[in-house]
Amino acid sequence: MSEQFADAFGAVYFITLGCAKNEVDTDRMRSLLLAAGYEEAPDVEEADLAIVNTCSFLASATEESIEATLALAEEAADGVRSLPIVMCGCVPSRYGADLPAELPEVAAFVRTDEEDGIVGVVDGLLGVTRAVPAHVPDVKRTVEGSVAFVKISDGCDRFCSFCAIPYIRGRYRSRPWSEIRDEVVDLVSEGVRELVLIGQDTGIWGRDLAEEGEGPHDLASLLRAVAEAVRPHDVWIRVLYLQPEGMTDDLISAIRDTPEVLPYIDIPVQHCSSRVLSAMNRSGSEEELDELFARLRREIPDMVIRTTYLVGFPGETDEEHERMLAFMDRTGFDYTSVFSFSPEEGTRAVKLDGQIDDDVKLERTQAAMDLAESLGFAATASHVGERAQVIVDGIEQTDEGYELIGHAWFQAPDSDGAVHLDAGEAAVGDILEVEFTDSFCYELVGHVVE
Ligand code: SF4
Repeated sequence: MSEQFADAFGAVYFITLGCAKNEVDTDRMRSLLLAAGYEEAPDVEEADLAIVNTCSFLASATEESIEATLALAEEAADGVRSLPIVMCGCVPSRYGADLPAELPEVAAFVRTDEEDGIVGVVDGLLGVTRAVPAHVPDVKRTVEGSVAFVKISDGCDRFCSFCAIPYIRGRYRSRPWSEIRDEVVDLVSEGVRELVLIGQDTGIWGRDLAEEGEGPHDLASLLRAVAEAVRPHDVWIRVLYLQPEGMTDDLISAIRDTPEVLPYIDIPVQHCSSRVLSAMNRSGSEEELDELFARLRREIPDMVIRTTYLVGFPGETDEEHERMLAFMDRTGFDYTSVFSFSPEEGTRAVKLDGQIDDDVKLERTQAAMDLAESLGFAATASHVGERAQVIVDGIEQTDEGYELIGHAWFQAPDSDGAVHLDAGEAAVGDILEVEFTDSFCYELVGHVVE
């Protein structure tokens, strides 16, 4: 295919919704299409075809994905032209069979496990034949700023009763070490300063690779191996989405003793009541969770902890809700995401007795959010007067001029707060020594220490 042809016909516009894992999947499809000779369209007006990579984690995310797709179709219709739209990812994986009839605006649906065949789908819709790469080329990651999310696994075997992810993403698959190693080395050589390792259940990484010989075979050894692979660069490594059962002594040592790995622990507990956890098809009890967090604080005294509380699960009593608030309070979580239970089609929790009335859910959610904020704001304010390194993520215009925006080790990109600095001589990706002078909500203000 000549370049001239590609310019004239073959520009693909991408929209990605949902979490960082979807961004990584879009990067993979983009790499395949570029390797086959397609181009990326900077905006929809210049596109010959659009790909919407969708999220279906919650009903609201599904709605947002469908709205974004319909808005694209409308935009194309306003410009009086035909724009084939390919809907990829979680919505087709979850609702595949029903979609063609309900969304005639969409030309093709591609499930998550079909995304490596994206070139054939686009070829078919544009009526051309491009050479499908024999293997997935080096994935060209879209890295904005200095942070890159690196997917180390896909799918989930836990089947929490409220969650559709295992049905959407399939069974747990660890990404092989060689792929992870090549990607992190490449990212760091391009200037990335923080690697955020993600997956639905990162703690069990490697379990399905254990028989495959050399290289790391569990998360603790993976963290050490990633740190080793990126040395001598000054890089932060953060791991998200750990489950309580995954916190082995070896993993705690790897986080504590590997200088590049941040003492930032993300464990979405969802609840502390053993009765509610069991109904969620999760394990553990309040006592075990207390023990776990006490052990973590003993081993890593300066650690920061993020968690999740799923409020209003069917059967949750007022007392269980109050106990969860007390648990959050005494554990002193730095960051807590609070979600209100939403009955997701196809999950077991939909059929459980004891569905909670919306007004009760709303009241409990508000109480949990208030507590999460007061703990989070206090944790943020506790850093005022301290010094820490901050990665510069960007420069923003304010009423007074410009300021640098960055994040410290205790702030996960895209989830927690940011650090605001007076504009100085700094570029995105610089790591600066900063003294924090003030805080507001989850945000910190600081100045660069010479
Ligand atoms: S661990 Fe539970 S909540 Fe998380 S993706 Fe797996 S099934 Fe869903």
